[in-house]
Amino acid sequence: MAGFLDGRTAVITGSTSGLGLGYAHALAAEGCAIMLNGFGEADAIEATRAGLSSEFGVTVVYNGADMRHPDQITDMIDDADAQLGKVDILINNAGMQHRAPTEEFPTEVWDDMLAVNLSAPFHATRAVLPQMKARDWGRIINTASTNALVASPNVVGYTATKHGLLGMTKAVALETIETGVTCNAICPGTVRTNLSEHRIDTFAESMGVSKDEALDDYIAQKQPYHQPMGRFITVEEIAAAAVYLCSDAGAAMRGTAFTVDGGWTAR
Ligand code: NAD
Repeated sequence: MAGFLDGRTAVITGSTSGLGLGYAHALAAEGCAIMLNGFGEADAIEATRAGLSSEFGVTVVYNGADMRHPDQITDMIDDADAQLGKVDILINNAGMQHRAPTEEFPTEVWDDMLAVNLSAPFHATRAVLPQMKARDWGRIINTASTNALVASPNVVGYTATKHGLLGMTKAVALETIETGVTCNAICPGTVRTNLSEHRIDTFAESMGVSKDEALDDYIAQKQPYHQPMGRFITVEEIAAAAVYLCSDAGAAMRGTAFTVDGGWTAR
């Protein structure tokens, strides 16, 4: 399918579900070849890969690198070079979330969260920058969060790693400022994905009601944070931000926190 990303290639980490898969759909729809990454059942991942490829007529490949391991991340970029020829677009999107008060936050979860949410984007960015600079074109997009800008209670690891990711975004953007390589962060509000279901489950549990019963109340929470618009953000609304950042019109977006949060951080 012809689109403005014809001939471009993208590696999207954590794209077997949720926002990552949304980015994959939106970029493939513009003609971009895709490397998927993330966990899941082999059959389901293969069905996703083949479905995307046939729906949009683009090459779609998969690499199962675990973002906790730097050597697997560099191997993934090598694999993308081998299978797709190059990496024009890197979306650092794989992420994990855990809710607990700081004094009860498991240290092993903290270590994994630092590795996946913060160190993995560093290793992947480090691996793709030389080729992007050499071609004088590239797009690095980091899925951060509203928690890159403001804190929420009981998500110390998430808040710390997402703030760090936004800092890294700005640093890389300044280092590439005189090139055609851009680096930005997208900061979504709550989107219904596997990751946010946990937050909704916890909310239902705290209310002592079923998840269905809790959903309306969850969305209605206007203070101190959450959904001022009274609805969740959609995967498509986030993916559209990435499409814009990949376009020529996005060339002057440098080191931004591209907030798509329904007003969460406006107050
Ligand atoms: P999700 O659980 O659907 O997706 C997470 C993806 O990351 C999956 O593909 C999963 O397999 C992958 N992943 C997790 N650990 C990995 C690892 N060690 N190695 C490789 N892949 C791994 O959730 P999502 O909401 O789509 O999350 C995607 C990103 O969006 C995350 O960085 C998350 O922090 C961010 N985000 C989500 C929301 C939201 O409300 N859903 C809001 C703001 C930011």
